[in-house]
Amino acid sequence: GPKKGEFLGHLGPRELSNGSLFSQQRSPLLEVRGNVQLKRPPVKAPSRLPLSGTRLKRGPEQMEDALEPEKKRTRGLDTATKIATSRPRAPVLATVPQTQGQTTAPKVPKKTGPRCSTAVATVLKNQKPGPAAPAQKPAAAAPMLGGRKPTKRPAWDLKGQLCDLNAELKCCRERTQTLDQENQQLQDRLREAQQQAQSLGAERRTLEGELARVQAQAEQGQRELGNLRARVLELEEQLGTQESLVQELRKEQLELQEERRGLATRLEEQERRLQASEAALSGSRAEVASLRQEATTQAALLVEQGERLHGLEMERRRLHNQLQELKGNIRVFCRVRPVLPGEPTPPPGFLLFPSGPGGPSDPPTRLSLSRSDERRGTLSGAPAPPTRHDFSFDRVFPPASGQDEVFEEIAMLVQSALDGYPVCIFAYGQTGSGKTFTMEGGPGGDPQVEGLIPRALRHLFSVAQELGGQGWTYSFVASYVEIYNETVRDLLATGTRKGQGGECEIRRAGPGSEELTVTNARYVPVSCEKEVEALLHLARQNRAVARTAQNERSSRSHSVFQLQISGEHAGRGLQCGAPLSLVDLAGSERLDPGLTLGPGERERLRETQAINSSLSTLGLVIMALSNKESHVPYRNSKLTYLLQNSLGGSAKMLMFVNISPLEENVSESLNS
Ligand code: ADP
Ligand code: MG
Repeated sequence: GPKKGEFLGHLGPRELSNGSLFSQQRSPLLEVRGNVQLKRPPVKAPSRLPLSGTRLKRGPEQMEDALEPEKKRTRGLDTATKIATSRPRAPVLATVPQTQGQTTAPKVPKKTGPRCSTAVATVLKNQKPGPAAPAQKPAAAAPMLGGRKPTKRPAWDLKGQLCDLNAELKCCRERTQTLDQENQQLQDRLREAQQQAQSLGAERRTLEGELARVQAQAEQGQRELGNLRARVLELEEQLGTQESLVQELRKEQLELQEERRGLATRLEEQERRLQASEAALSGSRAEVASLRQEATTQAALLVEQGERLHGLEMERRRLHNQLQELKGNIRVFCRVRPVLPGEPTPPPGFLLFPSGPGGPSDPPTRLSLSRSDERRGTLSGAPAPPTRHDFSFDRVFPPASGQDEVFEEIAMLVQSALDGYPVCIFAYGQTGSGKTFTMEGGPGGDPQVEGLIPRALRHLFSVAQELGGQGWTYSFVASYVEIYNETVRDLLATGTRKGQGGECEIRRAGPGSEELTVTNARYVPVSCEKEVEALLHLARQNRAVARTAQNERSSRSHSVFQLQISGEHAGRGLQCGAPLSLVDLAGSERLDPGLTLGPGERERLRETQAINSSLSTLGLVIMALSNKESHVPYRNSKLTYLLQNSLGGSAKMLMFVNISPLEENVSESLNS
């Protein structure tokens, strides 16, 4: 107890300096230790370092430590107090350790912090009992301490004092030796610790390098990660596109599959059909072979039949002609036109159509006209009964007869033209009796009222087509001229010649030729109705233009429509050709002899004389032909001259006598 307090009191200043040394030396160690503790588990260091620290600091107190370190620490103050009380001279000294102890004890934890105080506490606590020597110290120290202050030995006891001093010296020497050893040890440990610190530093650098490398790697990784993210985004986008594409393709695929199925079924269907067709084909082939054989037989038969048919056709022509001749090569029909709206109704019985010997079922051939003779009546003083005039014709057409009915009767005659016999049809009668209506047709282009010209041509075209089947080919060339005042004009003229109609002449086609042509006139090949219609329309236009220039010329001129028919049977080298002439004659009315003649009338008289002359010439020609006279006066008029090929020989002639139903025209009707 008291020794301890003295010892502490001695060591007070050293402890302070050591404390600073300790703190100076300790801090790097602690730092290292702290670092080590952070990084690796504290295996050796804690057991060593505190020991060295304690020894450095507390080396001289090992003896005390060996006694009761715990007690000593906690009771530090009490010890000081005891020292003070037990030793009378201690108070001065005791106060110093006391204050020091008081200040040091609480100061240590404050200065070093909780970690340090804990370390120190741990060191103090765990400290092993030191060598046995210190344990003896208290005993030795007691006299030494007591010896320093010669309170026990009397001053005269020099020997005792010397002995004490020697003992103290010996003790100090021992302690110095111990301390040197200890110092040596501590230096070794310091070196060791430094080496360790070095190695740890190196390790740290390595680790730092590694850290830097790892960081660089991490950065690199980040960059790569960024790149990869971008790439991922890109790929995701691509994936989206691809997916939509895939979906589209799937849809397409489905459609295609559907289509394929459809096609497959169709293919099957087609194959089935094909098989059926093939079966049918093989059947057909056999059939064809048999048919071919049959065909050759038939062909031979056909040739034979053709021969026979041709023979029959020739026979038909001969018989047909014979029939026509029997009917008469010169026939006269009478057609009475109906009363037109606005015309006075003729008295009953004025016109009669008595039936023939065959009864009413026979076509009419007789006409009866009654005429009341006013002069006779006046002479007798009483009205004389009307005179009846009976006429007989090849055929009579009453007013109700239609165009078709009339044509039916002449169709056979037209047929003769195809067979090669010239045919000539005239319309004769006074102006307004229906000549133009009969020949060209009524107004308005109504098919019901079509005249003989379009009907005859249509008939010819169709029969020609039929004969085409027997090897005949026909061609038709049309011309349409007007003979006025013994001059010939072209009714088909176009352009500048239209209406004016340059002077035309009738000439033989060539020297020694029977054929006649009209110079400057158009000869137009026709092969269908439309073309004929166009020609008739053109003729009407030409006549209308002429009418404005010269008063009512059309009624004073003859219109001659001629169709040159040429047929050929190439297979048999046969040819036939004949003209068909359809003539709308000038009005047959006579000039009223009672009229006074003005300049216009004189012209009219000349016209009438010309008309009368040509009509009477026609009458003379027909008379000569019917009487089979050797001389026929064709040359006496342009009309008969132009028609000479259509009148003589085997030619068939038909005269329509057109009659007005009106009573006022009875005189002209009788004259006709
Ligand atoms: P022409 O040519 O003889 O002078 P048209 O042919 O010009 O006489 O006839 C005189 C008028 O009588 C015309 O208006 C015509 O349409 C009419 N006509 C003539 N014949 C008939 C008929 N069979 N049926 C109806 N109308 C007719
Ligand atoms: Mg007329």
